[in-house]
Amino acid sequence: MASTEPSDSIEKGKVVSIHYTLRNDAGEVLDSSGGREPLDYLHGSGNIVPGLEQSLLGRRVGAKFTVDVSPSLGFGERDPRGVQRVPRSSFPKDADVKAGERFTASGPDGEEMALWITEVEGDEVTVDFNHPLAGETLHFEVHVTGVRAASKDEIAHGHPHGPHGHHHHHEH
Ligand code: ZN
Repeated sequence: MASTEPSDSIEKGKVVSIHYTLRNDAGEVLDSSGGREPLDYLHGSGNIVPGLEQSLLGRRVGAKFTVDVSPSLGFGERDPRGVQRVPRSSFPKDADVKAGERFTASGPDGEEMALWITEVEGDEVTVDFNHPLAGETLHFEVHVTGVRAASKDEIAHGHPHGPHGHHHHHEH
């Protein structure tokens, strides 16, 4: 281990566990870790929305706080050009093509881009490259339940590997 004094506050290279509740402007709960394991993320790697990540910097285990995140620091502003109509045949034959399903497509530079199906009408599929929460101000209630140093593998991969150190490959 490094000989430098270990810090227990949240900074780049720490795996952080949080319980959270996410509400919209109307106060409706959109997502919550309640009843589940806390969410683990690697700080400084963009695993969570920027506004939430920034609000966690320097916090310690036990911290409880609320933060309001603007769309630009959340899931982005809505871009009307993100809504497109494509034929059913542009999806793999065995794909589950229905409203609400998330897919990835290759962007112009070969990068992965997420898209969500919003409507299916016969052979015509309406997709939206905007995140379903784009344009929303996000209201988070957060409880920090764990902070630890990330392993080398976790830093290299840019995400945490779970409490038992197993490496699970999953879509991010
Ligand atoms: Zn990994």
